[in-house]
Amino acid sequence: MATFEEQLNLYAELAVQVGLNVQKGQTIVINAPLYAAEFVRKLARAAYETGAKHVMVEWNDEELGRIKYLHAPDEAFLEFPGWRAQGLEKLAEEGAAFLTIYAPNPDLLKDVDPKRISDANKTAMTALKTYRHYQMTHQVAWSVISVPSEAWAQKVFPELPVEEGMQELWNFIFKALRIDTGNPIEAWQKHNAELRDSNGLLNERRFKQLIYTAPGTDLTIDLPDGHIWLGGAKRNGRGVMFNPNLPTEEVFTVPHKNGVNGTVRSTKPLVYSGQLIDGFSLTFENGRVVSFTAEQGEEALERMLNTDEGARRLGEVAIVPHASPISASNLVFYNTLFDENASSHLALGQAYQVNIEGGGNLTDEEMDAKGINQSLIHVDFMIGSGDMNIDGVTQDGERVPLVRSGNWVRE
Ligand code: ZN
Ligand code: ZN
Repeated sequence: MATFEEQLNLYAELAVQVGLNVQKGQTIVINAPLYAAEFVRKLARAAYETGAKHVMVEWNDEELGRIKYLHAPDEAFLEFPGWRAQGLEKLAEEGAAFLTIYAPNPDLLKDVDPKRISDANKTAMTALKTYRHYQMTHQVAWSVISVPSEAWAQKVFPELPVEEGMQELWNFIFKALRIDTGNPIEAWQKHNAELRDSNGLLNERRFKQLIYTAPGTDLTIDLPDGHIWLGGAKRNGRGVMFNPNLPTEEVFTVPHKNGVNGTVRSTKPLVYSGQLIDGFSLTFENGRVVSFTAEQGEEALERMLNTDEGARRLGEVAIVPHASPISASNLVFYNTLFDENASSHLALGQAYQVNIEGGGNLTDEEMDAKGINQSLIHVDFMIGSGDMNIDGVTQDGERVPLVRSGNWVRE
């Protein structure tokens, strides 16, 4: 059994070699919270050892963000530094790889005016549109990972002392990322191959519609012509394979933005911009959310849905087996990176162009004509459970069982 320190080093190597697949001479940009400094140093060393030329770190501090939300003037949330957006665009253009350490404190912003949060998000998303396009179209290699913080550990394990909670969360991450196998890089090669097989089957069948049934859920989702299922490793514009999310258990494609009908109920809480939205249902007509309810965070949900026209439509449909290692833990992580990989999910907002044939260079008008949604947001929410069934409807109308009681039906 590897020591804690050895597992941390394996994690850093995994992020660098499988997450980003760092190339010789490449610039690496790491977006990281201050508390993760020690792990960031391990990442930097692993990146240089793998051939990186520069490792740049963009530090952030959630507490500082909260101070701004509470004390800055309203207009501060309507401006974004242009030099920062241009800098990121330039780095992307030059072929840098981007790693984000994502582990927000789920309760941090609960006292903040939600309008300030949605203004700030909208402003940042607008300013970063070109940079984000490099990521959404997989032109550059990018990856998102998580590192435990005390606040996050306390949220997931409220009954444990902080230190123990941190250790539990680390152990869980080592398990979910297959680091406990002792050879995570090999384990991920195998896992990526399995996800590719699942995609292969779905891409062969070319279903025109998916039908979801579960308690509180009765939903049909049309899939556009030329949709492509993806999952696991992706190929970037320079032919380099990378894993955008570590961990990842999903296969996903794009829904038709006008072809979603019925009601879907969430099965796990969603943290959106530091606010918790829980026990919510969305009802769709011709692709658009026409009504919604939430047991908690209804106002935050409403603000999210009102971000723009595309925020009320789906941009992603993803299937995750209920028996995945993360789901089996039965924990709620209050962190989309883990919760979305514990559960089948949908995303409101922007679709991935890579999920459609000929995507990557489509204009906004072409996207629209193909039924591909566009929005400033892309927010995953969890709908899977051990009670979920999914059928695929073939082009000639045959209904094929795909998922029963949350897991793949394999002939
Ligand atoms: Zn997803
Ligand atoms: Zn997503």
